Amino acid sequence: MPELPEVRHLALQMDGELRGRTVAGIDVVQPKCLNVPLSEFERLTVGRTATKVTSRGKWVFMTLDPGSTFLLNLGMGGEALVHAKGEPLPDNRQVAFRFGDGSALSFHFWWFGYVHVVPSAELSSHAMTSQLGLDPLNDVEFAWPAFDRLLDARKRTAIKAILMDQKNIAGIGNVYIQDILFAARLHPMRKAGDVVSEERHALYDVIRSQLKHALELGGLAYEKDLYNQPGGFKDFLVGYREGKPCPVCGTAVQKIKTGSTASFICPMCQT
Ligand SMILES: [Zn+2]
Repeated sequence: MPELPEVRHLALQMDGELRGRTVAGIDVVQPKCLNVPLSEFERLTVGRTATKVTSRGKWVFMTLDPGSTFLLNLGMGGEALVHAKGEPLPDNRQVAFRFGDGSALSFHFWWFGYVHVVPSAELSSHAMTSQLGLDPLNDVEFAWPAFDRLLDARKRTAIKAILMDQKNIAGIGNVYIQDILFAARLHPMRKAGDVVSEERHALYDVIRSQLKHALELGGLAYEKDLYNQPGGFKDFLVGYREGKPCPVCGTAVQKIKTGSTASFICPMCQT
């Protein structure tokens, strides 16, 4: 499932590639992934020009001037691919944009994704994106005091649940959380109120450094980017390494159940 590094990498590529391209037509194979009727989707996209692409959490935001914002969420995984003029679109696409210069952008999800468009003036009332929390790679909004307050506000909640709640911090899922908690030496079920200041500082630094590192590598090796290329991140510390030795102490990594999710931990290092 794509998380912040994959989604941000895709958004940066889309920003570099698609700025200035005008939507000439849409090709919708699966209308149920749209948020509005097909005719309305067409009205809000066709004839408009991509001017900026950003991301927050697991969502890509593309400004379509004048006046629309396109919103994409690849769900459990999938691809957003750019196609040169004349290149056939993938058969498994759910939706595609055709641009005025003959190029195209197609979307495919393994399970279910969201292909939404809203008038930019109404973006704040788009329920699925308006409640997204802090961007951990934005140093201004994800400042230390904000993070510290977040943990103080939920003292009796397990640290893993706090970090994965998209309303708190947007973009950390069950993939990157594993090594973040390991590097911060925290057990996933530790209550936030029991995480002392020194540990909080370590956790804060680790969240930023691990996500930044994965972004620099283009995200996970099993996800594809805008050009159908895999990311370079594959070397987990404990994530998905059940039974393998902990890189710090050599103890076998355990897979445990934590609420509704699985966690990979070193039982000696993470307490
Ligand atoms: Zn260990």
